Amino acid sequence: MTSDTTPGQPVPEKAAAPLVSLKNVNKHFGDLHVLRDINLEVARGEVVVVIGPSGSGKSTLCRAINRLETIDDGEITIDGKVLPAEGKALAKLRADVGMVFQSFNLFAHKSILDNVALGPIKVKKEKSAEAKEKAMTLLKRVGVDNQANKLPAQLSGGQQQRVAIARALAMKPKVMLFDEPTSALDPEMINEVLDTMVELAQEGMTMIVVTHEMGFARKAADRVIFMADGQIVEQATPEEFFTHPKSDRAKDFLGKIL
Ligand code: ADP
Ligand code: MG
Repeated sequence: MTSDTTPGQPVPEKAAAPLVSLKNVNKHFGDLHVLRDINLEVARGEVVVVIGPSGSGKSTLCRAINRLETIDDGEITIDGKVLPAEGKALAKLRADVGMVFQSFNLFAHKSILDNVALGPIKVKKEKSAEAKEKAMTLLKRVGVDNQANKLPAQLSGGQQQRVAIARALAMKPKVMLFDEPTSALDPEMINEVLDTMVELAQEGMTMIVVTHEMGFARKAADRVIFMADGQIVEQATPEEFFTHPKSDRAKDFLGKIL
């Protein structure tokens, strides 16, 4: 047992504690109640796929977990620590949460290698040579090491998204969030990105993935969460959810995308 507990505090049951926990999380945009009493626990090493109609709050959920969006009430913890509102503590905790968006958001004027090495150099104060060496290893892992000196625009969308994954991994996150990572890609590039994500899942990374790619869900997800109107309507194993959805909303939704 590790003993990174605070004296006087109860000893947490580390192994069983969820890595990500949301308790009664609510979020409004004006009159719009976009997250309604969300309760969610994600275990270490668990892969959760979030699925649901457009506007159901999936992106807001991801952004709240990374504190890109504030919440109105409730509590979000990452590895037992409550997400702070701002400042250095937030930056530190945010480094625990890697995020990959639909748009790759790479720095256009930096090389692929620099895109991956920059976070560790700037935020983690790693030495440049060391950070670049690690970045190269990560680029190799996602299969784009032969593009290291190119600019993002010289790569295909699928390659750029794999660089975005490498960049997030460079910060050594405890959990990776993916918000529709393949929905901006040409069809022939979707699988190369999903394959990278499946590998990551198999290596034991904790992942929350917003996607409608059922193949990925079936291959990699431990659990599928179906959201509608800001609520978690149902959750089940991929097999159970895709073959026997319970709610009318889920049946209706699956009828449209299958
Ligand atoms: P999803 O990712 O499931 O499509 P979102 O989380 O993006 O859903 O959005 C949920 C709802 O919140 C939508 O109705 C959307 O229009 C609204 N919304 C999202 N971001 C904002 C914002 N910054 N300001 C106002 N409304 C927003
Ligand atoms: Mg979205």
